[in-house]
Order: sequence, then C-alpha cells, then structure tokens
Amino acid sequence: MTERYVPMRRCAGCMKSQPKAGLLRVVSVEGTLRADEKNRLPGRGVYICRDPKCLQAAVRKNAFSRNFRRAIREDEYEPLRDAVKRPAGTVEVV
Ligand SMILES: [Zn+2]
Repeated sequence: MTERYVPMRRCAGCMKSQPKAGLLRVVSVEGTLRADEKNRLPGRGVYICRDPKCLQAAVRKNAFSRNFRRAIREDEYEPLRDAVKRPAGTVEVV
C-alpha cells in the first residue's frame, strides 16, 4: 500500500482544505481576474471550490482584492461565475 500525496489548498469561500485538483485557481493577469483552467498561469493564485456559493462567499469577503492587493471590478467576476459551474478539466484553453 502506498499513500499518494494529494496537494491540498484552502478555498477562499468556505475556507475548507480541498484537493487542489478539484479547485478552480484564480489569478490576476494584467489587471483582470482569470480562471486558470490548466493550472499554468504564473503568479499568486486564489483557490475556490467549483461551486457558485463559494465564489459568492469569496466575493463577499473581498478575498480576491485582499489577495491581489487591488480593487476588483464587478465585471471581472463574470467569467469566474461561468468557470465555477464547469467541472475540472473540461475547458480547452487555446
Ligand atoms: Zn469552497
């Protein structure tokens, strides 16, 4: 029996630790929030469950502006609202 190491990250909405692979990583690229669907965008990331409720909780807590140290425009959240509804690994990023 081998124990596999599963990287865990804390969701910025519900604050529970979850396996990183199931979470959506959000980064701030050139002044815009981006859903990092492939986990390959550089920089500081904020993790949230793929659950609109967790995104909403993170928005309410200003988790993104605190982590990225800037004000977040309301429209920046829109792509994230779509992204959290999709299961991991279903989006082809060109
Ligand atoms: Zn969560």
